[in-house]
Order: sequence, then C-alpha cells, then structure tokens
Amino acid sequence: MSESIQNVALLGSTGSIGRSALEVIAASRDRLSAYALTGHTKLDRLAQQAQQHGPRFVVTTDPDAANSWDRSGLPTGTEVLSGEEGIARIVSDEQVDIVLAAIVGAAGLQGTWAALEAGKTVALANKETLVMAGPLVMELARERNARMLPVDSEHSAVFQAMQSGQNREVERIVLTASGGPFLDRSLADLANVTVDDALAHPTWDMGPKITVDSATMMNKALEIIEARWLFDMEPEKIDVVIHPQSIVHSLVEFVDGSVIAQMSPPDMKLPIQYALTWPDRVAGAATRLDLTDQITLDFRPPDLERFEALRLGHEAARVGGTAGAVLNAANEAAVAGFLAGEIPFAEITTACRNVLENHNFDPSPSLADLMAIDRWARLEVSRWISS
Ligand code: NAD
Ligand code: MG
Repeated sequence: MSESIQNVALLGSTGSIGRSALEVIAASRDRLSAYALTGHTKLDRLAQQAQQHGPRFVVTTDPDAANSWDRSGLPTGTEVLSGEEGIARIVSDEQVDIVLAAIVGAAGLQGTWAALEAGKTVALANKETLVMAGPLVMELARERNARMLPVDSEHSAVFQAMQSGQNREVERIVLTASGGPFLDRSLADLANVTVDDALAHPTWDMGPKITVDSATMMNKALEIIEARWLFDMEPEKIDVVIHPQSIVHSLVEFVDGSVIAQMSPPDMKLPIQYALTWPDRVAGAATRLDLTDQITLDFRPPDLERFEALRLGHEAARVGGTAGAVLNAANEAAVAGFLAGEIPFAEITTACRNVLENHNFDPSPSLADLMAIDRWARLEVSRWISS
C-alpha cells in the first residue's frame, strides 16, 4: 500500500528535538518530508539542514542573527521568511499536514496556537504551551477539530498505554522521572552545584533549558501539568516515580489493577516518529532495546523535600488558572539566571515558589491575561535576582 507523503513544518529544527526529527524524516522519506524549518540563532545549522532536506521554506526568528546571516548556501527553491508572520504563514500553509512544535519555552506558544487555529495536526514537544495555557489550547484544538499528539516521551508512553483500555477505565497514570544528575545529592550538596554539573544529564541528551529543568525536577512538574490538560486527567490521578534507567517511559494503571508500561531506550526519535506516523508504526531511526543485555529496572518514590518543584507542579495542576503560566515564566527566567551565573542552582525553585505564592491568581484567564502575567512573573524573577 502506498501512502501519500506527509509534509512536516518543523518549528525549532535547529534544536535537540528538531535535529532528531530530521533524522526520523531522513529515515522515512517515503512517508515524511521536511516542508518548512525554523531556526533562531544557529542559522548556519539551519542552512545546512536546508541543503540536506530542500524545504520549501525556512523561517528565521531572531532578527539580529538573520541580519548578519549569509544566505548564499541555501538551496534554490527555498524561500526565507522571518518572525511570527513567517511562522504563522508556514503552519497554515495548505501543503502542510503536520506541525512539529519543538521551539523551547513560552516562545513556542504562538506557532502552536496558529497551527491549531488552522486546524493542523500538532505533534507537541513544546510542553510549555500546555503548562501556560492548557485549557485554552485544548479548547481551540476541539473547536478546530485539530489533533494534538504528544512528543514528550512520558506523554507518548501514556498515549500508547492508554490504547489498552477505555479512557474511563484509567485509574491513574504514573510518569517516570530519571531524577537527573542530582538524584542522590543531599539538600546541602545541591547548594554548590555548577552549571556544568546541571548540564550533565545521566541518560538524556537535550537542550540546555530542559536539562536544567530535569536537574531541579521542574521538568517533571511541567509534565504533570502537561498530562493534566492533554489527557484531561484529574491531578490526583497523576503520580511520579523515580526510574533512573529511563527505559520505562511511563505507565498507566487501569481499574482492574493492570499496569501497562511503554519501554524503549532513552532516544527521542521513537516518540517523535510515533507522533509523525500515527496511527501507524514503522521501522525507523530509533535505537532498540536489547533484551539480551542485562537490564535492571528500578522504581522508587521521589523525595518531595529535596525536589520541591514536584509539589509546585502538582499544586499548579490542581488550581489551574494563571498558576501554570506563572510557574512556567518564573522558571524560564530563573533557569536563564542560573545559566548566566546570576543565581545559585537551589534558588531556581525558591524563586518559582515565591513568584507563584505572590501572584494575583485568576481562575479563568484569557490568552491576553496569560501573556501579561507571563511578563509580570519574569520581571518578578529579575527583581529577585538583582535584590
Ligand atoms: P533546544 O534548546 O535544543 O532547541 C530549541 C529550539 O527552539 C531551537 O531550534 C531554537 O532555534 C528555537 N528557539 C529558541 N528560542 C526561540 C525563540 N524565542 N523563538 C523562536 N524559536 C526559538 O531545545 P530542545 O531540547 O530541542 O527542546 C525543545 C522543546 O521540546 C522544549 O519545549 C522541551 O521541553 C521539549 N522537549 C525536549 C526533549 C528533548 O529530549 N530535548 C524531550 C521532551 C520535550
Ligand atoms: Mg519528558
């Protein structure tokens, strides 16, 4: 059977997820094609990707980087667009079948929103979109009949496991967490960790922001909120378990007590590919589990005292409203401050807690309200850093 080729608009192609996605596409040229690519500052990489994949469009989003960019290496036939208009143009292009949202942080919201507005299927890596504006984003998807497919490995695992039963038969979902590089450090030890320590993840190779989020466990906090909206799941039914090997990517427990897990090596190519080829499974670029290797799978409960971020994530998932947007923006600003050497590691979560506790909670904000509170939370963190 010959399927038609799916045209992919890849938002954030120069990042870690973007590069893995292009490997997936290269391994499935009979099904997938990179129709549009976007890059922020690494534009030489964007040009290389364009040479390799011959997209119809590339979009540059950082004006300074775009101004000093030598475009002579781009293939003929590839058109250059820029900024938010460029993103809006490609995600609504008639030729595009699926939009892979892989821009990092709140900056990813605009493209995801525009893609859903155009009724496109969105393969979502950018969890921050759902953390900020989950109810509005899911509502828009319903209204436009647009499908959202998870790329985050835990959510892909839950999505796969859920196909073993009916939604109403799900008792709880359990998100696995590697625990990051500081799993076994004491609270006192966490005070002295460096940027390099935080960027050395034991099992996953990812962009810098999510790598720091994994070290604080804020990544899992954001994933609790992501799961809450994506699967319309009560927060009390979302648990986290520490699983240092990152082989079981998450589990779903059904009412009869059966627990279904999804396993594979820690390689994002598999969940990316599953989202891009769903509902089919195809042989592709992802690494495989070798069960003749000796594999040990450990599971243990998380230490909530050491990883306070988890408590903040559950709390924000429970209250909804503006809490997710505030937590997300405070965290982005605090992580940027940590990476710039302005605050110690342990203060990332403290800053988030303070800003979250002091914000003017609104239970049903509009998108404009969320943008405004996002800006407010970032300013609060800057004030915290400079004080
Ligand atoms: P990354 O830092 O490697 O790449 C980020 C991409 O976003 C780059 O292409 C960059 O050009 C673009 N970008 C950055 N700032 C931008 C801005 N202001 N406007 C437009 N584009 C901008 O990040 P990543 O690790 O690939 O993560 C991307 C997203 O996927 C994040 O939301 C992350 O949480 C999620 N995710 C990543 C992984 C992983 O393994 N890397 C796993 C699960 C989920
Ligand atoms: Mg994840």
